[in-house]
Amino acid sequence: SGSHGHIAHADATASDGGHALSEVIPKKKKLVLLGTGWAGMSFLKNLNNPTYEVEIVSPRNFFVFTPLLPSVTCGKVEARSIAEPIRNIIIKKNVDISFSEAECIKIDPQNKKIYCRATIDSHSKGGEEFAVDYDYLIIAVGAQVNTFNTPGVMENCHFLKEIDDAQKIRKNVIDSFEKASLPSLSDEERKKILHFVIVGGGPTGVEFAAELHDFVNEDVVKLYPKVKDLVKITLLEATDHILNMFDKRITNFAENKFGRDGIDVKLGSMVTGINENEISTKARGNGKTSSTPYGMVLWSTGIGPRPLIKEFMKQIGQGNRRALATDEWLRVEGFDNIYALGDCATINQRKVMEDIAEIFKKADKDNSGTLTVKEFQETLDDICERYPQVELYLKNKQKRNIVDLVKEAKGDAARESMELNIEEFKAALSEVDSQMKNLPATAQVANQQGAYLAKCFNRMEECEKNPEGPPRFRGTGHHRFHPFRYRHLGQFAPLGGEQTAAELPGDWVSIGHSSQWLWYSVYASKQVSWRTRALVVSDWLRRFIFGRDTSG
Ligand code: FAD
Ligand code: MG
Ligand code: MG
Ligand code: MG
Ligand code: MG
Repeated sequence: SGSHGHIAHADATASDGGHALSEVIPKKKKLVLLGTGWAGMSFLKNLNNPTYEVEIVSPRNFFVFTPLLPSVTCGKVEARSIAEPIRNIIIKKNVDISFSEAECIKIDPQNKKIYCRATIDSHSKGGEEFAVDYDYLIIAVGAQVNTFNTPGVMENCHFLKEIDDAQKIRKNVIDSFEKASLPSLSDEERKKILHFVIVGGGPTGVEFAAELHDFVNEDVVKLYPKVKDLVKITLLEATDHILNMFDKRITNFAENKFGRDGIDVKLGSMVTGINENEISTKARGNGKTSSTPYGMVLWSTGIGPRPLIKEFMKQIGQGNRRALATDEWLRVEGFDNIYALGDCATINQRKVMEDIAEIFKKADKDNSGTLTVKEFQETLDDICERYPQVELYLKNKQKRNIVDLVKEAKGDAARESMELNIEEFKAALSEVDSQMKNLPATAQVANQQGAYLAKCFNRMEECEKNPEGPPRFRGTGHHRFHPFRYRHLGQFAPLGGEQTAAELPGDWVSIGHSSQWLWYSVYASKQVSWRTRALVVSDWLRRFIFGRDTSG
C-alpha cells in the first residue's frame, strides 16, 4: 500500500488540452524509515520537512526507553511506563507519515525497493508480504543479541533487549521464589532454583545483578523469609574486569561493592555451554573447566548484526563485517540515497594520513609549498571536524597549542623557521590516526545520529539549490553538510542500593547516592513524552513507598 500514494501530477498537464497549470504540485520524495528504536525515534522527532512522504516500517509500533529496561526486570518500573506508541509521536508532526507494523526482510537497492512481512501475529493473516518503493532509505534496525555460537544459549537463557524480555525475566524471577517456597523440595533443589547467573559484566549485566540483589534485600527478605538465605547471584565475565568501558575507579568500586554484597563475580570466566540444568565455564588463565547447576541465566554479552543487515552487507560487498559501514554523513558506503545509523551501523572514519596531501594543499592558501603556523591554525578547526581523531589526539597529548606541535615536528630546525613543509606536516600529524575509535553502540549515539540526519533532511532542498554549501574546508568526499560529530555526555552505571557511578566529560567521576539522584533526574528528563515521564516517576515513587509489586 501507499507506495505510489502521493506521487503528484506533473504529467497531468500533458493531457490537459494545452491548459498549462500554473502551479504544479511537486512530487513528494518518498522516505522510508526502518525501525522505531532510539535512532528511528530521534530521526522522526526531529524531522519537520513537509516535502517528504515518510513511511515507517517496524515490527514494533512503540519506542522503548532501553536504559530503564533493567528496572523493569525486578518491578521497580512497569513495562508500559517505558514504551511510547509511535503513533503518538506521528500525530504531533506536520509531516505526511504512515506506519506499517512489519519487518523488512530484503533490501533491493538497484530497484529502490524493500520487501516486508507483516508481524501482527494476532491476525490469522499475519505474515502478509508487501513491497515498498523509496527515494531515500534510512536503516535504523538496531542489532540483536550475540550468542557467539555458544551451545544451548538460545534455548536456555534469558536476554534483555526488548520489553517482552524484561517482562519474562520479571515473571521468571518471581516464579523462582514461589517455586523455591513449595514444601516438597530439598534444600539442594531450592538452591538450584535460586541460583541466578548473569553472563557478561557490561552495563546491562551489572545493572541486572544490582537490581536482583536489591530486590532480594529489600523485598524477598520480607516476602520469602524461608528461602532468602538460599539465593545466590553469580556474575561471569570473560575479561579481567567488569564494566571495562568505564573509568578504572568505577570498575574497582563496582567490583568491591559486589564483593561486599555477596554477588559472586567470576572474572576471566568463559561460558562454553549451557544445558537445561547446568552452565559450563572455562577459566581463561588455567583452562580449568567446571559446571554449576542454575535456576536462571541472563545472557548479556554483546550484540551482533541482524540477518537483514548481514544479507544486505553480503549483497553490497561489505562481506562479514559486524555492522554496516557508512561515511561520516551516515550514508551507506557506495549509495547516495541509503543511510544507516544506530547499532546496525558504524562510521568508516577517514584516516588523516590517507588525505594528508590534499589537506596540506587546502591549508596552504598562498600556494607557497609550506604552512605557516597561522595557516595551520586556521585550518585546524576544519581538520578536527572532518577528522575527529585529531581533536582527540590534541586533547590526550595536552597539545592544544599548535606551536608545540610544529616545534616537535621540526625538531632543531624550528629555531630557523616555523613553517612546515609537507614532510614535517606529516610528522606533526603522524600519530593522530591511532586515536580512531568506533563509536559505542549506545542510545546516546543513536539518538544524536537520528537528530543529525533529520536536520540534514530538513535542509535538503536548500542544499540541493546550493550544492556546495557554506565555504568550508572540504577534505574529500561530499560536503553539503557538516559530517556527523558525536558529543559524549557521560555515562551511568547503577550499582544498586541507591548508588550509581557516573562518568561525565572532563574525567569527572562520581559514585554514590548523589549520582543516583543525578541518574533519576537525567532519566526523567530524557523521556520522550510527558506521559512516559509521569509514569516512570510515579513508578519510582510507588516503589519507594510500597516496595515492588511481586504478583506474576
Ligand atoms: P534499537 O533501539 O534496538 O531499535 C531498532 C528498531 O528496529 C526497533 O524498533 C526494532 O523493532 C526495529 N527492527 C528490527 N528489525 C527490523 C526489521 N527487519 N525491519 C524493520 N525494523 C526492524 N544505551 C545508552 O546510551 N545508555 C543506556 O543506559 C543504555 N542502557 C541499555 C540497557 C539495555 C537493557 C539495552 C538492551 C540497551 C541499552 N542501551 C543503552 C543501548 C541502546 O538501547 C542501543 O544502543 C539503542 O537502542 C540503539 O538504537 P537503534 O535505534 O540503533 O536500535
Ligand atoms: Mg531505530
Ligand atoms: Mg530502542
Ligand atoms: Mg553504530
Ligand atoms: Mg603557505
